[in-house]
Amino acid sequence: MSEKKYAVEIEDLVVEFKTDDGIVKALNGVDLKIEEGKTLGLVGETGAGKTTTGLSILRLVPSPPGKIVSGTIKLNGESIFEKPEEEMRKLRGKAVSMIFQDPMTSLNPVMTVEEQIAEVIELHEDINHSGAIQKAKEMLELVGIPGERGTEYPHQFSGGMKQRVVIAIALACSPSLLIADEPTTALDVTIQAQVLEMMKDLRNRLNTSMLMITHDLGIVAEICDTVSVIYGGRVIEHGSLDDVFNNTRHPYTEGLFRSLPNLDDRTSKLKPIKGLMPDPINLPEGCTFYPRCDYAMEICKTVKPSKVYRNDEHYVECHLYDENSVKEGGKIGK
Ligand code: SF4
Repeated sequence: MSEKKYAVEIEDLVVEFKTDDGIVKALNGVDLKIEEGKTLGLVGETGAGKTTTGLSILRLVPSPPGKIVSGTIKLNGESIFEKPEEEMRKLRGKAVSMIFQDPMTSLNPVMTVEEQIAEVIELHEDINHSGAIQKAKEMLELVGIPGERGTEYPHQFSGGMKQRVVIAIALACSPSLLIADEPTTALDVTIQAQVLEMMKDLRNRLNTSMLMITHDLGIVAEICDTVSVIYGGRVIEHGSLDDVFNNTRHPYTEGLFRSLPNLDDRTSKLKPIKGLMPDPINLPEGCTFYPRCDYAMEICKTVKPSKVYRNDEHYVECHLYDENSVKEGGKIGK
């Protein structure tokens, strides 16, 4: 059997931000891997560490106040921490691109869209301006916008079209990894579905690996091969789409599913997860989900759970699945 190749591998990544109130522990040992050509959904609430993970891969965590304290990140097998900034600049856009939630913040209002796409192409490829413009028009066609509209400005496009332009810019140099940070959140639901469908199609055609950052489990079900659930700056459950959706293990992941509306049963009430995310300046000593967990045991208060594997891919960080912890702590709650 051939060995798996990974577009990105993150191990034990710790990222902190210095603030006037203290040190914000944004990432506390994140592990994450995306196999070449596959899409991983990174799911969690606002403030869980999703965007910081994406920015870390591009080495774009603003410093100061941010700091990558420890850990490793490999892009296509090579560590990014050893690379000079000049080389990282070349990698951004070429090997790895990121698209953000709001297309308006990513587009330049005073440049035509084809000039904006061509700019990225010229930066990374040995091509003259007219060749880059030609390629920019082809990219627009690829994302479903007629090439002749390339001479228009962002304000002449709808929200969904603008996000398509952003995706065209991100894919212009055929990156091996695309990081999409809530790419459809700012769009109407019907447009969301169209943009998502287009991303799926492009990913399949170009064999791009993708990190889909989202809080929306519907999007994950639609587009992802594997899922990492992040909470308090750590991946607390990871597995294939089937593992996480049909064999949910972590109480937090369970809570995420329970808080989704069930279209087959309109009479049942939504069950939101009680409480709030922990203060990242003052994280609980043991399991970070402890204050909100219906299954909490004594041991959870003081001892951080380690990974317990259900199969080669699916793991969970929870004492409930650690035989010794259950014996020692005794199950309480629920
Ligand atoms: Fe709940 Fe304990 Fe599991 Fe944390 S380790 S999720 S507190 S049962």
